Amino acid sequence: MSNQDQRPVYMDHAATTFTKPEVLAAMEPYFSRYFGNPSSLYRFAGEPRKGVEAARGQVAAALGATPGEIYFCAGGSEADNWAIKGVALANHKRGDHIVTTAIEHHAVLHTCEWLEKQGFSVTYLPVDKFGRVDPGEVEEAITGRTILVSVMAANNEIGTVQPIARIGKIARDRGVLFHTDAVQAVGAVPIDVDAMGIDLLSLSAHKFYGPKGIGALYVRRGSRLENLVHGGGQERGRRAGTENVPGIVGLGRAIELATADIEGHNRRLAAMRDRLIRGVLDAIPDSRLNGHPTERLANNANFSFRYVEGESILLMLDARGIAASTGSACSSASLEPSHVLLATGLPHEEAHGSLRLTLGDANSEEDVDYVLEVLPDVIGRLRQISPLTPPAGKKVQEAE
Ligand SMILES: *Cc1c(COP(=O)(O)O)cnc(C)c1O
Repeated sequence: MSNQDQRPVYMDHAATTFTKPEVLAAMEPYFSRYFGNPSSLYRFAGEPRKGVEAARGQVAAALGATPGEIYFCAGGSEADNWAIKGVALANHKRGDHIVTTAIEHHAVLHTCEWLEKQGFSVTYLPVDKFGRVDPGEVEEAITGRTILVSVMAANNEIGTVQPIARIGKIARDRGVLFHTDAVQAVGAVPIDVDAMGIDLLSLSAHKFYGPKGIGALYVRRGSRLENLVHGGGQERGRRAGTENVPGIVGLGRAIELATADIEGHNRRLAAMRDRLIRGVLDAIPDSRLNGHPTERLANNANFSFRYVEGESILLMLDARGIAASTGSACSSASLEPSHVLLATGLPHEEAHGSLRLTLGDANSEEDVDYVLEVLPDVIGRLRQISPLTPPAGKKVQEAE
């Protein structure tokens, strides 16, 4: 059986997703018939304005928030920057300390590192070997100077889901604002900002079958937050710039679709994921699963293969039509192993041999079959030419 003449197999849904036809259809009129600037006073502005406000309602409904707490922006990175810099700048008279984790997305980590250069202090909490944050350590890290706790809802590399509600309760009890990067969680984990004690939440449409370059920041009413993008009075004076109306409409439709049946969606993905994980670990010696055995995103499988190099795996898979990732998509241009895998205690060598396969609506059981056919062969070939592979006959060390 060969898949090579068929469509390629896309297993990198954590990097981005295709835009669903229903989403594209909802967006289309806002490029043409309803092209007006929503801030204008004439009738051309009416439909665009209605489209934006309907989308605000859809996003609010998906999070258990109110429409007045939703602010559209250019995506997950901007939402993370806005939440963290905005809280830091608005609250610096009260305190200068931020608590986050070692496994955040670079949009959070690099923002915190920048704030350190501006005089803030940041605690980067460790995680256990499965990538979980201990809520007790969040509690211990909070001081009288702490103004923000920022912990991602689900990790983009290893798929580990964090105990967000417990962390939210701790932050609330201590009177500290709680931000969560939920870019990977929306559509995968049910979210209720009140039940989870969330004050600020970042999301991005292109991670749940919406368009790229559009996202939103949820801000609990009354939270002290400085603006990030200055200019016109859009978004109730909080985020300047003419609205990306088609993008906003697409985001609204996409989040509605993504949260309509999270359980059913997860059931389908988890069945494929578990077959993939079992198949890979059974067929390939010296392989291990990274991330949490159960508290993980339904679409995420992340492996380490000893004696081989992640980039070589990607190239050989690509040659056979399979799109995957090693660590974060953003880090694939650098030679440093993933900060997330290192934080789980994985040695450099094994972090270098990592492979992330993230399933989604583009995948079928046949895709899983095809990967299970190709991957053992790819790893076998790479090990044959790898100087790290122990000589034949010598028993290799059992992987954990
Ligand atoms: C993709 C991603 C981001 C960045 O979102 P963009 O919309 O691409 O800027 C931030 N955090 C996490 C966890 C992500 O997966």
